[in-house]
Amino acid sequence: MNRVETDIAVIGAGVVGLAIAAELSGRGRVVVLERHAKFGQETSSRNSEVIHAGIYYPPDSLKARLCIEGRERLYELCARAGIAHRRIGKLIVASSEDALPKLESIAANAAASGVHDLQFLDGPAVRALEPRVRAVAGLLSPSTGIIDAHALMRHFTTRLEIAYRTQVRRIEPLPQGARLIMEDELVLDARTVIVAAGLDGDRLLAGLVPPHVPVKGEYFALRRAPVSRLVYPVPPPHLDGLGIHVTLDLAGAARLGPNTVALSREDCDPPGALAVDPSHAPAFLAAAQSYLEGIEAEDLSPGYAGIRPKLSATEFADFSIRELSSAGLPGVIALAGIESPGLTAAPALARYVASLSVV
Ligand SMILES: Cc1cc2nc3c(=O)[nH]c(=O)nc-3n(C[C@H](O)[C@H](O)[C@H](O)COP(=O)(O)OP(=O)(O)OC[C@H]3O[C@@H](n4cnc5c(N)ncnc54)[C@H](O)[C@@H]3O)c2cc1C
Repeated sequence: MNRVETDIAVIGAGVVGLAIAAELSGRGRVVVLERHAKFGQETSSRNSEVIHAGIYYPPDSLKARLCIEGRERLYELCARAGIAHRRIGKLIVASSEDALPKLESIAANAAASGVHDLQFLDGPAVRALEPRVRAVAGLLSPSTGIIDAHALMRHFTTRLEIAYRTQVRRIEPLPQGARLIMEDELVLDARTVIVAAGLDGDRLLAGLVPPHVPVKGEYFALRRAPVSRLVYPVPPPHLDGLGIHVTLDLAGAARLGPNTVALSREDCDPPGALAVDPSHAPAFLAAAQSYLEGIEAEDLSPGYAGIRPKLSATEFADFSIRELSSAGLPGVIALAGIESPGLTAAPALARYVASLSVV
């Protein structure tokens, strides 16, 4: 047995694990364990790269609080560290009178959460901003932005000790902290262990954290950008997504998505699990045409997909962040359900986890 000791071990080099490791790096030796050969190979590179404003989540939920704090911390960090980003803004549009009450309730929810910069626009004002958007009204969010998620993760890795190609197989309790068992009889004892393993965190801690309900999100690339800011429809009545929206990346390329495709745990594992199904194109087109003019079938091509580690496919479920003393694992902090806005919230999640850790 090859046994090593550290103060803090973080399992997972996605944006959340890296942000946490960077936050804790002044508190002793921190080792990040990542099964892939590079950081950010899973959900952290398969998302919309949107810095969310914190509009949709129930006020006082962790998602609302950490999104708003994380957004501000991200803008500060990006400015300080030269990480590519743009405060591009976002429009949420009502394409019929029926959607107006929902638009008003979104504005009220945002205000109750502490997002006070939304601007209500009538149809002509929406049109003046985005000539190809068909809407009777809209909400403009000036504090929504986009970010280079890879550059953010690279920033967090600076000065971190990361063991790549290292898969944690088991977590066993110690009087304080835990023993992590890897392949080839490699063992790491740590006084604090943070499980930021994304979709697979519930497999490592089966029975101790709520199980994930995987929901895939596919994107279709658009041939030309039809808008100059992010444009979202009023979300559908069921709570499984924000509706097919248009996002832009920092190079100005536009995509539609993500949709919501429920998966079983077994469906997540095969190599083709992240493929985009071309037969979904007509549904994307119809959704986009409900609020965008001049989009045709030939403008769409399959893009990429990511899998949301949800805790419920039908109802709101908050981020789950727990210290596991009561489950017999003192010093182990487990994160589950870190779906959107996990990228935005990452710096605030890191501070929150640091406030729970004992080292
Ligand atoms: C379609 C989609 C769109 C999204 N859009 C946005 C958005 O626009 N804005 C936003 O704020 N958020 C968005 N999100 C959410 C955001 O992407 C995630 O919340 C965030 O990336 C989660 O990061 P993570 O580090 O927890 O997980 P991951 O990036 O999945 O990282 C987990 C890491 O743990 C490693 N790991 C797992 N098990 C082990 C093990 N046993 N041993 C060693 N390593 C292990 C994995 O290899 C992986 O590298 C979106 C998500 C999806 C799916």
